[in-house]
Amino acid sequence: MADNEYLEVPPELQRNVFLTTLDTVYNWSRKSSLWPMMFGLACCAIEMICTAASRYDLARFGMEVMRPSPRQADVMIVSGTVTKKMVPQIVRLYNQMPQPRYVVAMGSCATGGGPFKEGYNVVSGIDKFLPVDVYIPGCPPTPEALLYGMMRLQEKIKRQSIKTVPWYKEGRDDIPVPVLGPDILDLRRKDEVKRGKGGG
Ligand code: SF4
Repeated sequence: MADNEYLEVPPELQRNVFLTTLDTVYNWSRKSSLWPMMFGLACCAIEMICTAASRYDLARFGMEVMRPSPRQADVMIVSGTVTKKMVPQIVRLYNQMPQPRYVVAMGSCATGGGPFKEGYNVVSGIDKFLPVDVYIPGCPPTPEALLYGMMRLQEKIKRQSIKTVPWYKEGRDDIPVPVLGPDILDLRRKDEVKRGKGGG
């Protein structure tokens, strides 16, 4: 029996070995070079800025390149109070980011409205409009909490597989920009709103 007979890998397994290796490299490179968008809404943004500065040094995790343009960013850290007036702009910025893209809701306001929950001008969490990957509680969260949240995002990226990620199969998942009128209108729910108006 030839020596290399023992090394022969069945075709099915070969494919898995290839994909596992590809996933490891693909995910490692993506998780190690996340580019957050330079974007803040309120007091939580100060903690985000502090996390990127020398004391907490976000650069240690490969995330130091904060981009002023959504076209060059792959993480949106929603740091602060989400007012109804800002929602259309936030969704528009999200739509301008290339895929794959991730959203981190930083602080009580971004995760659920915080101290202003149910306020006339505040949205009860950005997840009403955008798909949130990581929620970070706190008012404001400490830089350590933000670092932890970002590391959880890296863990999530590490578990993704090139075989199942939606952005190659389904294309872009842009979100209709909500309309600001007397209230904020999510266009994905316009039929529901119409039915409500008609008493249905
Ligand atoms: S969670 Fe607290 S610190 Fe953060 S934006 Fe809201 S009020 Fe400010």
